[in-house]
Parts: sequence; C-alpha cells; structure tokens
Amino acid sequence: MKKEERVNIYLDILFKDFRDIANKGINRCLLSTKYLMGTLDVEPSSKGVQRVEIPNSVLLNCSREIINDIDPDLVDKYNSFVDEKNIIIKKSEIYDLFKEHRAYYDRSYKNGKTPRIVMYKPPDFYAVSILIHEFMHSTNTKRIDKENPLDQKDILRNELSEFVSIYFEMYAREYLINILNVNNNMIDLSERFISNYELANHDLEECISYVIYDKYGTVNYENYLTILDEYKIPLLPNKMDYNSSLNRFIKSTKKIYNSMIEFSTIEKDEDGYDKVSDLLHKYLTAKITEDNYVASTLLYFSVKDILSKEDILKFNKVLGDDTSIEDKFLNPDFNKVIEYYNNLLNNEELDNKIDNFLKSVYDEKGKIKKL
Ligand SMILES: [Zn+2]
Repeated sequence: MKKEERVNIYLDILFKDFRDIANKGINRCLLSTKYLMGTLDVEPSSKGVQRVEIPNSVLLNCSREIINDIDPDLVDKYNSFVDEKNIIIKKSEIYDLFKEHRAYYDRSYKNGKTPRIVMYKPPDFYAVSILIHEFMHSTNTKRIDKENPLDQKDILRNELSEFVSIYFEMYAREYLINILNVNNNMIDLSERFISNYELANHDLEECISYVIYDKYGTVNYENYLTILDEYKIPLLPNKMDYNSSLNRFIKSTKKIYNSMIEFSTIEKDEDGYDKVSDLLHKYLTAKITEDNYVASTLLYFSVKDILSKEDILKFNKVLGDDTSIEDKFLNPDFNKVIEYYNNLLNNEELDNKIDNFLKSVYDEKGKIKKL
C-alpha cells in the first residue's frame, strides 16, 4: 500500500471515531507552528558552550543563592534536600555521550523513599540552572490523595509544572550571567529555544496531515503545498519533506491505530468498562506529556516579558494548592486539554508577536520578502 493511501485510511478512522485525538493532532500542529514562528526573535547562539567543571559545593551554593533570590521561603526546603543528601550527582559514561545535561526530579514517596533530584554529569555552571529546574518541580507537587496519603498526586511534567520550572531555569541562567558574573560562554541562553525548536519541528511534520485532512478530506502533495501557504506553516514545500511528514505520521499513529483496533474488539470488564480504554488513555496521556515541552516553552516565551517573578510564584502556589487544576490536568480529559491548548493558541500577546514576525517576513501579498 502506498504511504499516502495508508495515511488517508488512518485519518478516515481517526476523524470518524476519534475526533478528539484528531483535534489534538490539529492543535499540536498549530501550536508548533506558533512556537516556531513566535519565538524566532530569540537569537540562537552559534558559539557553543564551554564546559568547565565546578566542585559540587559551588553547584550547591550557587543554587542556594539563586533560590534565596527567587523566594527566601524556599531555602529551607532546598537545604533539606542538601542535608539529607537527596541531590544525587552521578557520573556515568553513558551520559558523557550526551552534550546536554540529563536530570530528573524523583518525587516518589513509595517504599519509604524520599524525593530526590538525580543529575548525571559532573557539574558546571549550566548544571546550576538544571538543578533549579528540578528543584522547582518539588515546589508544586505537594497535593496528597487523602485516601492514600503516601501516594502523591502527580502534576509533575504537565505543561504548567514544566512552565514554572522552565521559567526559573531561565531566570537562573540570567542570574548567573548578570549577578554572579559567570562568563556567558559557559551558559547558553538559547539552548531551551533550540531544543524545543527541534521538537516543534518534529511535531509539526508529524501532525501536518491532520490539518490537511481536516481542511480537504484527503492528504496529497497538492493539498500539502496549499496548506503550508495558507497557514504560513514553516515546513519546506518539496516532495522530500512531504514524504517525511507521511512517514512521521504513520510511525506515531500506528501505535494509536493498533490500540484502537484492540479497543474496538475488547470485552468489557466486570464494571462494564472497556478494558483497553484505560490503556489507550494512558498512552495518549503519555503522548501529551511528550508535547508538554513545546507547550510550556511556548508559554514561557509568551509571558516572560509580561509577568514578573512574583506573578509566577503566585501562580506556582495556586498550582500546588488549587484542586480545580487537579481536575483539569491530573486526569486529563481530552476536551479540557484541547481547551487549554486553544487558550494558549489564543494568547493575544503572542498573536501580536507572531503578527509582527509575519509582517517582517512576508509582504502584503503574502510572499516572502527578499532579504
Ligand atoms: Zn521538568
């Protein structure tokens, strides 16, 4: 079967029976478009970062100073991480292969474990901002399930928790350069932008088929070219990129498609629920999590000049306390998630930014201006 044919068959099913998934694909595409166009005023650095190892004590002290500057009330919490040796710096040869830092916040209280931050790679100044990112995750995951107090409800890595962490990670980088006078060739302020740029690009390729199908009912090369032009979607108008978008779509959709085939034949469990629906739901929730970095970074770029540090701290407090957010984001109902994406898409400030960008690139006839 030709790839194009296969894509259209998948989309027939998706749009007929799983409109919410299709909507999500459309939204992801438009969101990535916004990201790619709306943040182009961030200057990618060409020089690359110089990695200079620093002692663990410098990493910990710098981070403490920055956390104290973010909010003195957070210092005690940070100190307990340090005192209880819950900031773990592992040196692993596997991770030496990666240029970037790898780290995560492990919030598990289960089996007597306490939350900890795990970082791979010997520290450099860049790692300070990574540590701040992971530490901020610990400040908005405190909601506790009353029925099962040891099992913390998890808002970790949803868009909003990521957004807060990204905000203060970037705050830390600027602090290192501006206040602690760390040479700016050791900190790359554009790294977050570039890694998300790549992610958004992949998302866009993967999801462009949804928009074409939604608009024209058939995915083909001609419609691909028209949609790029109409929505100003930053993909290349050539056959090679069109084919690569089909490949990406098939790869990502195959998993969902297979789950759906099972889904349609599955028996009910004793409570009358489809057994696979839960699995499918989990799988799709995981898909949403993957996209959170694009959404949350987009959110960061769109509010960084509008909101103050205090605004973000206030927001973070609500994030940790407000149970209505729990309804929206802990067990994502797709319509609510889509609604959230739509709100993000309708951010007026961001729209203006994109408008200005488009005006600087396209002339009145919608043609790309000659440089
Ligand atoms: Zn994170």
